[in-house]
Amino acid sequence: MIGNLNFKVDSIKDQVITWRHLLHQNPELSYQEGETSQFVYNTLLTFGNLEVTRPTKTSVMARMIGKKPGKVIALRADMDALPIQEETTFEYASQNPGVMHACGHDAHIAILLGVAKIFSSLQEDITGELRFIFQHAEELFPPGGAEELVEAGVMEGVDTILGGHVWTPLEVGKIGLTHGPMMASPDSFYLTIKGRGGHGAMPHQTIDAILIGAEVVVNLQHIVSRSIDPLDHVVISVCRFDGGTTNNILPNNVQIDGTIRTLDPKLRQEVPLLLERIIKGITSAHGAEYDLKIVLGYRQVINDERIVRVLEETVRDVMGASAIEFVRPSMGAEDFSAYLQKAPGAFFFLGGGNKEKGYNYPHHHPCFMIDEEALHYGMMIFINATLKLLAGKA
Ligand SMILES: [Zn+2]
Ligand SMILES: [Zn+2]
Repeated sequence: MIGNLNFKVDSIKDQVITWRHLLHQNPELSYQEGETSQFVYNTLLTFGNLEVTRPTKTSVMARMIGKKPGKVIALRADMDALPIQEETTFEYASQNPGVMHACGHDAHIAILLGVAKIFSSLQEDITGELRFIFQHAEELFPPGGAEELVEAGVMEGVDTILGGHVWTPLEVGKIGLTHGPMMASPDSFYLTIKGRGGHGAMPHQTIDAILIGAEVVVNLQHIVSRSIDPLDHVVISVCRFDGGTTNNILPNNVQIDGTIRTLDPKLRQEVPLLLERIIKGITSAHGAEYDLKIVLGYRQVINDERIVRVLEETVRDVMGASAIEFVRPSMGAEDFSAYLQKAPGAFFFLGGGNKEKGYNYPHHHPCFMIDEEALHYGMMIFINATLKLLAGKA
């Protein structure tokens, strides 16, 4: 008998908050999560009943193999911090200058440690296997930690994967769910327009890369407004336009870099072709040349409908129907998508904001803070959804 889980979660609440404070004080950047992963590794070993391994240098995986074979459910937390100088006045503020847990990954680690601790005490009652994936480098791509962990085999034999992100735009006590596409693919483009420089007073002797580049920037927006179905979701943003040295010299080249976001794998293939068609047309019309590089980022996070329904049912059971908030997809990105290539799964937003307390700074802000009640809700959702999935729901 599994017994009263609410009570078990309550009994480790303070410990989980203490873990989070410790992690928050000692943030580490992507691919440098040495102490963080060592702490996770050591802590997991104290729970018993877990097979703890290190799939890559700064990641950790724990397997809890239940008494009888059954479904394999994976739960994932990311662990990296960001190059930001913390500006909060918490006594547990970052002690690592210029590095901060400003996305809430410290909360993800603490929640998943709590979940692992509870499940490790339930081994006798569990039919199936649980995998706790503590992933490095979510914030840095390509390739990002998830892709590397998939390659290292953490998803072999997994039936379902769940992941969550503490989310300050959502109030604490709410769980954000999305059916289908939830987060975009963040592909990058790097474009050099190759003209011919010369004197600013004699433009007829040049091929003006700046003017051609400006036309390209404007025309790229025709893709979203005129080539894409208005009911689809695409963003093209030019985020860098670099060229020239002074006021009277036309440069040879300009550099134009940007990001392409799509929620649909088919559009992800199509948009770069449309981009190149415009670039090719405009440059050739004006006698210029170009060099275009597209760098693929993460895939889209596309939630499995049946698993989202299990989450929905879980939230209703654990927190009440009013806690469910159906959220619109975000054009941000998450490398959780890498796991979804191997098994169906779902990602959810864990409300972490609290306007009354002033905890509503955006993610990646130097004053980012969360309401720590979210840790408790996070554990409850992971544990109860996992039990439903082990029991064959979805
Ligand atoms: Zn982030
Ligand atoms: Zn994040």
